[in-house]
Amino acid sequence: MRLLLIGPPGSGKGTQAVALADHFGIAHISSGELLRRHVAEGTALGRSVADAISRGDLVPDAVVMDILRKPVEAASRNGGYVLDGFPRTVAQAESAYLVAKDIDAWVQVALYLDVPRDELIARMLNRAHSDGRSDDREDVILHRQDVFEQLTRPMLDYYARRETLVSVDGSGPIAEVTAAAIAALEQVRPHLS
Ligand code: AMP
Repeated sequence: MRLLLIGPPGSGKGTQAVALADHFGIAHISSGELLRRHVAEGTALGRSVADAISRGDLVPDAVVMDILRKPVEAASRNGGYVLDGFPRTVAQAESAYLVAKDIDAWVQVALYLDVPRDELIARMLNRAHSDGRSDDREDVILHRQDVFEQLTRPMLDYYARRETLVSVDGSGPIAEVTAAAIAALEQVRPHLS
């Protein structure tokens, strides 16, 4: 299965991505983690994107596409993937589809984690004290929510029209959300492209 997780910052997207990859025996590929690794290692690519990440802005499409191409190709040949954080805009989804369709690597199903904005902000302020991420400051947290609303939310409509979109209430305890996501995915799995 080739799955895309869509959720605003604080929705538990990363945690659920790990759990779903584990359950379905597929690779977890996180664009944010790969980018943060480059920043931590001080590579040229990492230095070129560090400021954008700290501001909560998106990094250029070409950079993310470049980092993801190999892991996505490899995972597609090997049972599938859970993509976490990419695509993040309709433009990225369209570019990725053009690259992926010839190698049977396109996203078959998108899963949206639905969490109310107030809860997202409360969770992220809480996490800011423990994670120490450069983009977990309060002003950046609010900005990242706006970036999601403006640039990422339109992808829900894109995947609803193009492929399969399932929506799961992400506001409960982690294990309950995972169970609901697995149930929703098991239901659509036989009908995927
Ligand atoms: P995340 O861990 O998914 O919240 O991503 C953290 C940060 O990495 C984002 O705020 C962006 O600066 C950058 N990033 C991650 N994925 C993408 C993407 N698909 N396109 C552009 N920027 C991204």
